[in-house]
Amino acid sequence: MSNAYYEVPYPVNEPIKSYAPDTPERAEVKKAIKQMKSKKVSIPMVINGKRIATKNKVAIHPPHEIKHVLGHFSKGDGSHVNKAIKAAMDAKEAWENTPWEHRAAIFLKAADLLAGPYRARMNAATMLGQSKNVFQAEIDAVAEFCDFLRFNVQYMTEIYGIQPESAPGIWNRLEYRPLEGFVFAISPFNFTSIAGNLCCAPAMMGNTIVWKPAETQIYSAIVIMDILEEAGLPPGVINLIYVDGPVAGDIIFSDSDFAGLHFTGSTGVFRHLWQTIGNNISKYRSYPRIVGETGGKDFVIAHPSANAKEVATALTRGAFEYQGQKCSAASRAYIPKSLWPDVKKYLLADLKSITTGTPEDFSNFVNAVIDENAFDKISGYIARAKKSKAAKIIAGGTYKKTKGYFIEPTVIETKDLKYQTMCEEIFGPVLTVAVFNDKDYDKTCKVLDETSPYSLTGAVFAKDRYAIEKTSRLLKNSAGNFYINDKPTGAVVGQQPFGGARGSGTNDKAGSVLNLYRWISPRTIKENFVPPTDYRYPFLEE
Ligand code: NAD
Repeated sequence: MSNAYYEVPYPVNEPIKSYAPDTPERAEVKKAIKQMKSKKVSIPMVINGKRIATKNKVAIHPPHEIKHVLGHFSKGDGSHVNKAIKAAMDAKEAWENTPWEHRAAIFLKAADLLAGPYRARMNAATMLGQSKNVFQAEIDAVAEFCDFLRFNVQYMTEIYGIQPESAPGIWNRLEYRPLEGFVFAISPFNFTSIAGNLCCAPAMMGNTIVWKPAETQIYSAIVIMDILEEAGLPPGVINLIYVDGPVAGDIIFSDSDFAGLHFTGSTGVFRHLWQTIGNNISKYRSYPRIVGETGGKDFVIAHPSANAKEVATALTRGAFEYQGQKCSAASRAYIPKSLWPDVKKYLLADLKSITTGTPEDFSNFVNAVIDENAFDKISGYIARAKKSKAAKIIAGGTYKKTKGYFIEPTVIETKDLKYQTMCEEIFGPVLTVAVFNDKDYDKTCKVLDETSPYSLTGAVFAKDRYAIEKTSRLLKNSAGNFYINDKPTGAVVGQQPFGGARGSGTNDKAGSVLNLYRWISPRTIKENFVPPTDYRYPFLEE
């Protein structure tokens, strides 16, 4: 019986554990890593609640230890895409008719399972499969994912509570239907939490999902599925398939029931998908919702009034945590000549103390980049910088792919504000610093704004309040997440809704109420208590 207006537990950000020596969480995650490394797992797809294995087994290696085999995933083909669509459509009616509090309870329970009994396993999977150090795994796979689940439940109830006015004799109501069809969630390798949110956010609003993760994230993706199933998610609500993107795309984007795309990944792929959807637009029952968070070329600009130590610390953390493989990672910095000697001194001192290696050794700040393609692409930029007259490598610059895909944190200095590595997304541990004349601050802001097609994150460092105000204004459209005296990474759900515009995405702010609005199709209901019985209006009388 559902006869009350339930209040959901008010969300608070999941506390982040320290993993300092001698803490219980450190011992637990080390134990989980050891256990997981000692057995090779076979990872199935999950369609309609059934675990599907295929003969096409693909090996999974830790990016920092490529000789080791963690297990294999079962690769699927077009037939699995069709089965996943059917499962999603078959599950739709029961799921969308499930009262919201029961849907909410599943995701709240999933958050508590993740924060409790699954915490060590989820962190260990993200550390081994995606080469994150324990802190990077904790803030992503546990804390951020818990936050997405709990805050979205709160936002869902806020949406359901928004109701229209009613004139006398009338009762107007708004009903928040899910989309008429299924949602396709395509997730990237770099955040376990994003992968979880891309399928859970639309599912929470009553949609059913076909989810295709990046191959390099499958080792932690299956942990997400295990948690959701234990939390009671019914079969067919989220269907997890491991199929090449174009194979899945060909089938899904031709299906009349395709109702929405929830994507995070690179700009090029997103543009291609949007174009395909556009070409097929007459095939669909409804205009599909298209939500994409894509690439970035995130910046830090320092004003001459900035504190050099604060700038250097923000650059070290902002550019090199998780090897620069965050969409928000600082990858271009604009530093005034007067400040550069001090910023450089502190930055180089920081980098000297950083070690690169396996995340299993907790003293390593930097680990491996995700795969060989990424390694080759990133090291190509470094190799070209070494040869270029316009660039000078002042830190790092070495890379090796024998044991794992290791690239030393690298800083390139240039006077050319449009040097290649100031413009293009590299997605690795490479920071380029352009030094400008102090008097050219405004001009530099203008060049910064015009340099890349992206607009994801950016930061200004200054003590001068007029400079802070002016920079915020000049760079109004240069970033969707703008930071004042802080690094441009580390957005927290409920605190800094995340997303960018221009080439960086549709700016639907993951982990906010704005994103959830994209997964509903409201129906307005007007009920008249005393319907008129005479068509004539008073003005018609003589
Ligand atoms: P990617 O674009 O290579 O892959 C993303 C997903 O798209 C993967 O699941 C991939 O298999 C799939 N895919 C690729 N081609 C496809 C096709 N033709 N049809 C269907 N699916 C296809 O990105 P990645 O390397 O996994 O992630 C890194 C990128 O993601 C970077 O550009 C980064 O900036 C971006 N990113 C953005 C945000 C954000 O919030 N803006 C967050 C994380 C990552």
